[in-house]
Amino acid sequence: MLINLKKFLLSDDLVMNINDTLTITDKELLETNKLNKEFLFEGKFYKVDKNVSLNAKITYAYDEVCARCLEEFENKVTANFNAIIVDEINEDYEAEDIEILMKDGLIDLNDAVNQIIYLSMPMKALCKDDCKGICSKCGKNLNTGKCECNDFVIDPRLEKLKTLLED
Ligand SMILES: [Zn+2]
Ligand SMILES: [Zn+2]
Repeated sequence: MLINLKKFLLSDDLVMNINDTLTITDKELLETNKLNKEFLFEGKFYKVDKNVSLNAKITYAYDEVCARCLEEFENKVTANFNAIIVDEINEDYEAEDIEILMKDGLIDLNDAVNQIIYLSMPMKALCKDDCKGICSKCGKNLNTGKCECNDFVIDPRLEKLKTLLED
C-alpha cells in the first residue's frame, strides 16, 4: 500500500486527493480478520506548515457471523482517521493522530490501515437491521420463513397456572 507523495511535495499544490481501491498484502492481517483483500481508500493530503497531514476514510469488508441468526455474511465498515506524515517516528508523540513514516517521498499505509481496522471492527454485527434471528426452540433461521413451532406467546401468569394445573 505505497503512496507516492513526491510530485505533490514538489508542486505548489496544497491539497492532493487520492480515491483508490487498494490491496491489503499483510497475510496475517487478512487472515485474522477474514478481510477482503481490496478496500476503498479516500484520502486528502494537506500541506500544513512544513508537514503533511492526511484526512482519510477507508471502507473495508470482512466475513462476519450474524450475532442474531448466526449466518455468515460480508460486513462492510467505514472508518475515518487522521494521520500526520513524518520523516521519523516520534516515540513520545501523544496526539490522537496516527503517524505515517515517509521515506524518499513514499509512504506505506499498511500499519495505519492495520490499526484502523483493529479499532473500527465491531464486536457484534447483524446481517441486516431487521434480522429475525433463529427460533429458540428449533433453531430455524427465521429470515428464511416461519418454523413449525407454536409462536403463540403465553402470558407468564397463565404459564404459571398451566404448570400448577399440570402438577
Ligand atoms: Zn442475521
Ligand atoms: Zn421453531
